[in-house]
Amino acid sequence: MRKPIIVGNWKMNKTVAEAKEFIKAVDPLCHDGATYGVGTSFLALAESVKAAKNLIIAAENCHFEDQGAFTGEVSVPMLEEIGVKYCIIGHSERRQMFQETDETVSKKAKRLLQANMTPIVCIGESEAQYDAGQSEQVIRDQLTGSLAGLQAEDMKNVVIAYEPIWAIGTGKSASKEIAQNCCHIVRDQIEKMFGKEAADIVRIQYGGSVKPDNIVEYMAEPDIDGALIGGASLKVDSFSEIIAKTK
Ligand code: PGA
Repeated sequence: MRKPIIVGNWKMNKTVAEAKEFIKAVDPLCHDGATYGVGTSFLALAESVKAAKNLIIAAENCHFEDQGAFTGEVSVPMLEEIGVKYCIIGHSERRQMFQETDETVSKKAKRLLQANMTPIVCIGESEAQYDAGQSEQVIRDQLTGSLAGLQAEDMKNVVIAYEPIWAIGTGKSASKEIAQNCCHIVRDQIEKMFGKEAADIVRIQYGGSVKPDNIVEYMAEPDIDGALIGGASLKVDSFSEIIAKTK
């Protein structure tokens, strides 16, 4: 049985004080129906880890080297030291604006797994690729590159977030049929790369305009094990509603 995992991606939002306030309100509402978490800025991670009893706290990026001349970057050992156990990597915003590639994503995934941390590996096609009917190929190619060098047994500690770029922050969420179909392609590709057992165990999230009023229909789909949520994770009310609806 795969335990559902629902993670808010705060992106470049919330100061340390705002993060603590949110966690104080939402942490007690978490229940065993799923693993719940939030991705915070690097600055808010340490205080968030301290404040959270139930929520898992995720970084939104990391570097694959342990130290060195990489101005502005944060390494996996630095995250490990403050108790961070999850890290979002390869988000489409990082791929588009910060030159993240499948190759750097795979290096980051490898380093995180070495530290017993869970990478949340984001993939997804652009609107132009979707319109051109290339979604399946893009998903398969991104997984091949982003998970290169990983082993079958790593898949129990990996979360894949399928996020069509055209659905992110647009309010134009993918239909549950499209989301299920693409998450099924993700699982099929994992099976091709790592075998059936790995495909059965890996957790796959859908992301892109997930809200309290559509979370339940996504979660009912067989290949969707959770969600990565941007906008609707920023407000205590909407994230609490999502928690309450996924009991
Ligand atoms: P959204 O963002 O829920 O605001 O569409 C999702 C994401 O970027 O992870």
